[in-house]
Amino acid sequence: MKVLVINCGSSSLKYQLINMQDERCLAQGLIERIGSEGTVLSQKVEGREKYIVKQNMQDHKDAIKLVLETLIDKTNGVIKSVDEISSVGHRVVHGGEYYSKSVLIDEEVMKALESCSKLAPLHNPPNIIGINSCKALMPSTPMVAVFDTAFHQNMPKYAYIYALPYELYEKHKIRKYGFHGTSHKYVSRVASKMMNKDIKDLKIVSCHLGNGASIAAIKGGISIDTSMGFTPLAGIAMGTRSGNIDPSIITFLMEELSLSPEQVSDILNKKSGVLGISGISSDFRDLWAAAKDNERAQLALDVFHYEVRRFICAYAGALEGVDCIIFTAGVGENSSKSREACCKGLEFLGVKIDREKNNVIGIAAEISTADSKVKVFVIPTNEELMIARDTLEVVNS
Ligand code: ADP
Repeated sequence: MKVLVINCGSSSLKYQLINMQDERCLAQGLIERIGSEGTVLSQKVEGREKYIVKQNMQDHKDAIKLVLETLIDKTNGVIKSVDEISSVGHRVVHGGEYYSKSVLIDEEVMKALESCSKLAPLHNPPNIIGINSCKALMPSTPMVAVFDTAFHQNMPKYAYIYALPYELYEKHKIRKYGFHGTSHKYVSRVASKMMNKDIKDLKIVSCHLGNGASIAAIKGGISIDTSMGFTPLAGIAMGTRSGNIDPSIITFLMEELSLSPEQVSDILNKKSGVLGISGISSDFRDLWAAAKDNERAQLALDVFHYEVRRFICAYAGALEGVDCIIFTAGVGENSSKSREACCKGLEFLGVKIDREKNNVIGIAAEISTADSKVKVFVIPTNEELMIARDTLEVVNS
């Protein structure tokens, strides 16, 4: 059983071919600059040199065609025929209120995805193009949609309703959806294995800290709250996104600085977060390097860590206790300094970090002391594997 995982962005496509018997990644690749000059595919296979194909292509269908050709290439491929791919799992950003789990793609699902495009105008359209292109090239292979939002669809209503006129929810579906669901689901399952406990018995705070960052409260395996909201702009300050701010700032900017909605959106999404505060970079490595001599770089880090700590405490409250805290994604997996700063002052909750154990990069590890009441883990996320597992489960059922 080999599952192809596809993640289509507006001008890029990431893929992995996973052998489900041993969950090994046979090949992974990335195509960038689809639709413009200089499209490049780069494919990595364990134990081999990176394989690069430079080939101009017009659209995602050309891109998927090249992926399939590369996978079956006599010298650089990993399978003999496309028929060896038993199913395809597509990452889809927004499933709205339609889906609380992954689904087999049919006409009805496609219509639902179209109707969710309003909610994720940057993400869902390329996801849909990817699915259609794949269907055209592999018409008899089952395809499954795996949603970033699905894991959060079982939040209680009081956690997802905004205190706005209720008609805005009824008519326009304005509510908290939450994102990074595939990642939070994956790492929470790994944590339950590492603790040797049933996920049903655990209260987990999962911190996905990358360029985009979100925190989820997971009780008995179900997400009961999360920091991102109607869009991925909400929650903690991120690389370039503001996270939660007083909503009046938006009307103030429009009125006082005569900014258009697009200009405000550009500021909040691309010029804010730790980049906005520091004025230096959205990359946490640059901020740590600059922090000693640069007050604003240090301030950006302080704001970020403070917000993570606040959410951890808020979610410990929402969960009525916490058994474990997980750090994942770029910052969470790689920065021991950030992890320590995110847990600073949480001793009252029963969180004790072991500095030596915390000195790890990119591997699954427990980083709390033996007597820490709350276990703290670093767990590298693997959204592709989670998508492949879901795909197989849906196809088999
Ligand atoms: P995304 O998928 O949201 O683009 P990632 O999860 O790949 O983000 O995380 C990227 C971020 O991880 C980068 O902005 C970088 O700041 C951070 N990062 C990567 N390695 C390190 C490190 N060693 N120390 C601190 N931050 C790191």
